[in-house]
Amino acid sequence: MKIAVLGAGESGVGTAILAKQKGYEVFVSDKGMIAKKYKEVLLHNDIVFEEGKHTMAKIIDADVVMKSPGIPDKVQLIQDLIKSGVSVISEIEFASKFTDATIIGITGSNGKTTTTLLTHHVLKNAQLDVGVAGNVGDSFALQVAQENHKNYVLELSSFQLDGIKDFAPHIAIITNISPDHLDRYDYKFENYIESKFRITMNQTEDDYLIYDGDDKVITTWLENNKTKATLLPFSLKNKMDKGAYKDNNYIIIQTNTNKFTMSIKTLALQGSHNTKNAMASSMVSQLLKVRNETLRESLEDFESVEHRLESVLKINGVQYINDSKATNVNATFYALDSMKSDTIWIVGGVDKGNDYSDLLPLVHEKVKAIICLGVDNSKIKDAFGNVVDFIIETQGAEEAVKVAYKLANKGDAVLLSPACASFDLFENYEDRGRQFKEAVRLL
Ligand code: ADP
Repeated sequence: MKIAVLGAGESGVGTAILAKQKGYEVFVSDKGMIAKKYKEVLLHNDIVFEEGKHTMAKIIDADVVMKSPGIPDKVQLIQDLIKSGVSVISEIEFASKFTDATIIGITGSNGKTTTTLLTHHVLKNAQLDVGVAGNVGDSFALQVAQENHKNYVLELSSFQLDGIKDFAPHIAIITNISPDHLDRYDYKFENYIESKFRITMNQTEDDYLIYDGDDKVITTWLENNKTKATLLPFSLKNKMDKGAYKDNNYIIIQTNTNKFTMSIKTLALQGSHNTKNAMASSMVSQLLKVRNETLRESLEDFESVEHRLESVLKINGVQYINDSKATNVNATFYALDSMKSDTIWIVGGVDKGNDYSDLLPLVHEKVKAIICLGVDNSKIKDAFGNVVDFIIETQGAEEAVKVAYKLANKGDAVLLSPACASFDLFENYEDRGRQFKEAVRLL
């Protein structure tokens, strides 16, 4: 069998190694220049590759093509391959064929990384043999080749899900669905929703689908479509017979006869969005028979994830918070929702067609000043000009932090939660978060 791997990043190189190990003839093709780290791995493993171009003749000769998630379906090469009848799949689809592991697949618009890492943390503490893949660490394919764990917690983007055919996680989680990445879905929200629900399309009666029962987009889809999986909703609003819910200040988890109760105050990750993430992780743990005591300890001692509502420093009684990963309005909604003091809010970047109206009540209640951090801030000024007294424009993390420092009084918080992508002024959201933290440390 011959496989062509398009894109030589983490998932592409992992796939190439696994395919070679399984006896495939492998050809890797990257239109850009391949990072040194990955080139060395390819050379070391005697894998044939090209960079700076795609040679169609060699690619179309393959029995199967693995496409990296960064390559959109609409590019000519992919369209031509699909037309010619070659099977184009994602890394997850390819790698899952070579493992019998129990798979927990996590998708959603926000909270994927947090829920993935939290779930992994609990399962690891319960002494399960478990790997984690997605946004962090080694690719799933590489781990299947080299470690072959008995369980995997996988963070799955809609792009990974677009390239599945038979992949079926035993436990699927959809954290929530709000508009994002619409440029890759013909600007149709319904296409993006369908893409997220592919996570459940091959599940059977023995499998589970965990989801936000308060999310109208999700519940509407479930009313109008079918899945064979057992449904396990979590909710902050309604009591659930089977699933997870909030009762006063406790979370109650009940996926089977075992009932787990825990005070929300003692959860390591605070904020109502994180309470939901904890509910989802707890349900997975209960399904996999983790002891209540282990689950409780793990939810208490989990360390927060960098760039996600990360406390940086307290200076002169002002708390600085880095939420650079908030690249859409929904994530920022939860950041503002979790603020307990007057807030100086640093926002802006590349607008992805944002509708800021959902944020107006929270901004009105909590935000005393807005610091714009973007090249074009006109939409932010239009949306909040009548709500907040101070709106100041800045063009860099250091300048934004200095302005925030001047405006803040003891007891206030300074929150970087941009609701936008970062590439007008920064390399990516990590770079934006790091520059913010560095500027805070230099104050
Ligand atoms: P993803 O991997 O889906 O991008 P992350 O866990 O990296 O999600 O979090 C992205 C942003 O969304 C952060 O700003 C985080 O604070 C926020 N967030 C985390 N969980 C949720 C949730 N359940 N609902 C809404 N926002 C969330």
